[in-house]
Order: sequence, then structure tokens, then C-alpha cells
Amino acid sequence: MADIEIDYSEVRGKKAECPEGCGLCCLCQPEVLAEERRFFEKHHPKDLVYTKGADPYLALALKKGKGSCVFLEGRRCMIYSSRPAYCRQFPYHIYVGDKVKVELDLSCRGVWTGSGADAETEAKDIVTKAESRIKRAMKEARGVYSEFYHNCKEAGVMGDPVEIRRSVSENLDRFTDMAYIGKVMEMTMMEPVMTLNGIKEEPADMEELNEAAMETAMESMATKDPVNAPVYCGEDWSWNLFLADSASGRIDWMVLDDEGDLTKKDTVKASEIKIKPLEPGGKEVLKAYISILNQRESFLGNVFSLMDAAGYEDDMANAYYGCLSTTILDLLWRASLLDHFFGTGMGEKGIKEAIIFYDMDRLDAPAIGAFV
Ligand code: SF4
Ligand code: SF4
Repeated sequence: MADIEIDYSEVRGKKAECPEGCGLCCLCQPEVLAEERRFFEKHHPKDLVYTKGADPYLALALKKGKGSCVFLEGRRCMIYSSRPAYCRQFPYHIYVGDKVKVELDLSCRGVWTGSGADAETEAKDIVTKAESRIKRAMKEARGVYSEFYHNCKEAGVMGDPVEIRRSVSENLDRFTDMAYIGKVMEMTMMEPVMTLNGIKEEPADMEELNEAAMETAMESMATKDPVNAPVYCGEDWSWNLFLADSASGRIDWMVLDDEGDLTKKDTVKASEIKIKPLEPGGKEVLKAYISILNQRESFLGNVFSLMDAAGYEDDMANAYYGCLSTTILDLLWRASLLDHFFGTGMGEKGIKEAIIFYDMDRLDAPAIGAFV
């Protein structure tokens, strides 16, 4: 891949391992690539299905249609040496947008242990194996991005992503403060082209922010289908699913077992969850996460996708700061939800657990580029 520039900064200096007993990534239905199809059709024809939803693809079946992959037994892969490419890639995601970047799935507990294989070396190996897919996606992304920039210029909403990201980097500390987030969100709606320069926080209207956070979180977690429900892999390796129902305003906490059966553990009214104040250790973990988001190409691709969906009404800076603010609110609300059920708190541990719960959904957000 000497001819393509790949950004490995997110994985540089990190380590990754796969502790026994997890299996979280085996809840995501892995796509079977065209070149893998013959193998599975020959050896495991009954275990191939098309996924549900608007954009179905050929994938491995799930136990009882909603549990883990059929090949997971005792939290071990029974076809390890012939598992699909997407299983081999986890916890790395190759995002092809304006640039190509390897992003690290922080929902994987194996990237938080501080031990294991060198992540950059593993990522480079994965990129080499995905070369043809990356090149194909780059061709498509070039057209999509150039159309997007053209539309931004026509609509007069073009911004400078480098400058926008730099301004966030300079204000990382302030983005952990609710009053600041509240002010930024207000300005994204009031100012035609906003900057972060000279923002003066006013006391936060916590009721309004809690309302906004609840709406964002409920929207990001809303589903009636357990296959699409957000999963939190607990410290005891339990698979905890949260099914949010906007109509009733309730969230059901269910535990998925290894056979694919669900047991309801508890339920809570979303309006009872209030964002709790961050503790000092939690603030540092949150700051580090915001810094990662701020450098992710997929996060930028998500902002661009939102601008496109909204018909190029918002300036790029407003869209970016707004998306970042709602993302932080969503995360803090989810941290408070976990604290409600598991007592994880809002310190270093609580925010880390919230990131483990949240990051897979964050990486799954629509973007104008694609993961390959
Ligand atoms: S999520 Fe990470 S730790 Fe868990 S099974 Fe997958 S690779 Fe291993
Ligand atoms: S094929 Fe193996 S690694 Fe892939 S999802 Fe199934 S059990 Fe997990």
C-alpha cells in the first residue's frame, strides 16, 4: 500500500488483545465477502443469511435470529481459522473518506487492558489484506466527497475542517463542561457562522440540557429489534442490551445469554435519568475521548452526512460543533444510565464504561464515506 497514504495515528502506541470470555464482536453480524461466499456455501450453507433492513448483505446467521453468531460456542469461535475478513479486522475499522484512516473500536475491552499485540502492526497487516477493497472504496469516495464540497460551496456553508478541528483541540477542557456545551449548542442555532473564540459560559440550564441529552440518547438507542439494540459488554462479560421505546419513554435492560435468549432485568423511565456531574478522573477520560473523536475521519464523515441530510442549511463549523456537543451529551447521559443500573459512577471508571457502551454505536453512525 505504498501508493496510498493511510492514517494510523489513532492506533499508534496502543496495544490490543482478546481476553477470553468476551465475544462482543460476535454479536455484530459479519458480512461474508464475495470472495468468501463459495467457502461458506460449500461448508456452511445453512448458516448464511441476508440481513434485515434497508441495505441487506450476505452474513453469518445469528443464534435464534437475535443472539450471537451461530459459530460462537463457549465464547470461542468454532471456525476461527476460516472466519470472515470482518471478524479478523475487529477491533480495527478502516474508514475510507476524503482520507483513509484506521480507527479503533473502543467498545472492545481488549484495547483497554494495555497489553497484547502492537495495534499499529496489526492494523498495517489488516490494511494490506484489504487493499483491493480500500482502492475500490477510494474511487467511490472521491466522487462523493467532491460532490459534497461542491454542494457546500454552492450553498455558502463550506468551512475549513483543519481549522475547525484545531479550535476544538484548543478547547478540549471546556467541552467537558455542561455550561460550555449548552452555550455552544445555543450558538449553533443562533449564529450563522459560529466560532469558539471568546465564548462566555453562562450557568447551564440543566433541565434543558437533560431534555436534549435524553432525546438524543433515546433516538440513538431506539429499536424494538434486539439485533439492533445497543450492547454494553459488562465487566463480567455479560451482554447487556438496552431497548429504548420513545412512545412509552421507557428503557428496558435485557441480558442476552449464549443461547440467544433474552432475560429482562429491569426497566427505567428515561426522564428519571439525569446527567450526573463529572468527577475529576472522568473528566480526563472524556477529554481523551473527545480528542480521538475530533481526529476521526468517520466523525467528520458523519457531520458531512448530517449536513447533506439537512439540505446544506448549516454552516460546516456549526454542524461540527453541534454534532460534537450532542455526542458528548449522549455519552454523558449513557454514563448516567449505566450508573443507574450498575453503579459505575462518573469518574474514570464510569466514563470508561460509558465509552465501552457507546463507541460501537458512534462508529456505526451514518457517514458519507464508508468502512471497508
Ligand atoms: S470485542 Fe474485542 S475483546 Fe471482545 S471478542 Fe471482540 S476482539 Fe475480543
Ligand atoms: S465467525 Fe467466529 S469470529 Fe466471526 S462472528 Fe462468528 S464466532 Fe465470531
